Parts: sequence; structure tokens; C-alpha cells
Amino acid sequence: MKIFVEKTNEPKSKPSAEGLSFGTIFSDHMLICNYSPEMGWHNARITQYRDLSLSPSIMTIHYGQSIFEGLKAYKTADKKVNLFRPAENIRRLNISCKRLCIPQIDEKFGVEAIKALVDIDRDWIPEEYGTSLYIRPFIFATDPYLGVRPSSTYMFVIITGPVGAYYKEGINPVKIYVETKYVRAVVGGLGEVKASANYAASLKAQVEAIEKGYTQVLWLDGIEKKYIEEVGTMNVFFVIDDEIVTPALTGSILPGITRKSAIELLKSWGYKVSERRITIDEVYEAHDKGMLKEVFGTGTAAVISPVGELNRDGKIITINNGEIGPVSQRLYDTITGIQYGRIPDKFGWIEQI
Ligand SMILES: *Cc1c(COP(=O)(O)O)cnc(C)c1O
Repeated sequence: MKIFVEKTNEPKSKPSAEGLSFGTIFSDHMLICNYSPEMGWHNARITQYRDLSLSPSIMTIHYGQSIFEGLKAYKTADKKVNLFRPAENIRRLNISCKRLCIPQIDEKFGVEAIKALVDIDRDWIPEEYGTSLYIRPFIFATDPYLGVRPSSTYMFVIITGPVGAYYKEGINPVKIYVETKYVRAVVGGLGEVKASANYAASLKAQVEAIEKGYTQVLWLDGIEKKYIEEVGTMNVFFVIDDEIVTPALTGSILPGITRKSAIELLKSWGYKVSERRITIDEVYEAHDKGMLKEVFGTGTAAVISPVGELNRDGKIITINNGEIGPVSQRLYDTITGIQYGRIPDKFGWIEQI
């Protein structure tokens, strides 16, 4: 599909790399594409980033038919622009489409759309190590209709914005609250796709965890509240003795691209990695026996986020003295090294623009 380009003639001033936060500043342009049953996906265009005009009756507001993706563009020391496994994001977007009865997009077009938009706003990519351009593709239902059925029309939009290093002073371990009251997803629901509704379901638990002094929650399975699922917006790994365990993708867990990359790297380094069911009891027992060496989350935003403390119904355990461990550190250094072009990309993960 051809992408029409209408560049802004009112470019905004760019923020300085210092003090960049996450998700507050947006670049000059966005990409929009429409779907109708007659024309399929059509009218792909890059225009000025601006407000959308939408009917108050659009179905996405009332019934939540909305999905999204998240990835980043990185500036290398020689001013090249790297994307990390973008085809995986578009593939996952299409899996989300399928689950929410949204017509899929052509995967080649999806990657081309990301590249075209990032290229136009390449001056918006901050250059400091650890900073990047966050890319947010999303699709939502646009039929002006009050009644429950899949929408017949949709918009596919991509917006971008510069973001800071997730951690100001290196990577600080986070405190995580083990959620035993609320659940995020059940098998057969939306938990394994990137649907906006999953986040709506998670807000109450997050608010209560923050009130208790915790950063995010560790979700347990929705039925027995026994098996570990994931942490907030990240997948989770446990280093237990000489085994690295991450919950298997059993149907209610988001299949993270950072998770997948971490597994591939750990295996290439000779670690024993198990994707299996793991209970919260097993984690606490491993801790009591002195076998729980590290816990960390994986996701695009933070890359690797070490967990320094878990609280399950008031029983608090401290992991690795609340410090980052060697496995977390090595993964962080390697993944970011590949993303910023400092380490050779043996796996073919980088697409350069
Ligand atoms: C996006 C997301 C992740 C992380 O996925 P990545 O592809 O690694 O960024 C993990 N869990 C949830 C619930 C997510 O939405």
C-alpha cells in the first residue's frame, strides 16, 4: 500500500535529552490508515500529529475494541537508526486483531509503515545511550453505533515520542506486590493479546499496590491464584539454583518479545531455561532454602527490571539483597548493547532505517 506523506509546516521544538520521561512528548508526525468493508485497509497517510475528530458513539469507547503494540527506535553512535524485531510486533498485532475480531493488516505494510514514520521523524530520536523513540501502533473500532458486535470500520494509527532512560541511575530493583485479591486474565480471555482492556482490568490492583509502597503487582493465575503469570507490564523470570524459570505461555500471559529474546540469549549462553508452570509457593520455598538468586521482569519499556522484594499477604522476601544480579545485568547489557549497535547482532534482530 502506498503511504501518502503530508509533512507538517509547523514543526515543534524538541525536548533536551535530559529529564525525558515516558509517554508525555510526541513527535511531529503520525501515521493513519482506515478500514472499511468495501475498501479494506486504505488511505495510509503520514500527517501532522494532531487531535482526531471522532463521534462520541464510536464503538471503541463503549465496548473496548482496541489493541496496541509498543516498540522503540534507537540511535547508534554512528547516527544510524535501529529497530528491534519490528516484524514480531506486527505479527503480534495481527494475533490481537484476530482475537478481537479486527481485520488484520498486511505484515509487510505494517513494518514499512513504522519505518516510514520513524524515518520522517528521525531527528526526534534522542541520541544519549538509554534514550530512544517509543513507537505506539494501535487499532481501534470506529463505527458510530451503540450495540454489541464487532465494528465494521477501524483506524490503524502509529504515534511516536522520545523517551528517557527508564532508570536514571542504572537499573534499580523494584518492589513488587503479589496480588492475591484481583486477577488480570483467565485462559480463554484476552490475557495473551495486547488488548487495552487488560490494562483497564489491572488498574485497581496497581493503585492499591502503589498505596502500599510497591511499584507493580505480580499476577497469579485467575482460577487457583497459585501459578505465577507476569509482573504488571512485564514477563517474569526466576533464577532458582542453576535453573532459570519463566511461566509457560498457557493462554493468559502476554508473549513478550523481550521475554523471547531473553530466553534465546540465556540458552545461547548455556543456561538451563525452563518455560513451565511455577507457583508462588515454589518461589517462596526456593527463597527459604537460599536457592532464589534473582527475579527480573522483561519488557520493551524497561528491558530488564530486577525485582528486589516480593510481598505476599505481608510475608516479605528480599532477593539478592535488593541488588541487581549477574544474570539480569548481563541480559540488560547485551540486549541494550545490540539495540544501540554496540554489540554485534548475531541473531538478526535489528532492522536499520
Ligand atoms: C507488552 C507487554 C509485555 C512485554 O512485551 P514486550 O514485547 O517484551 O514489550 C508483557 N506483559 C504485558 C501484559 C504486556 O502488555
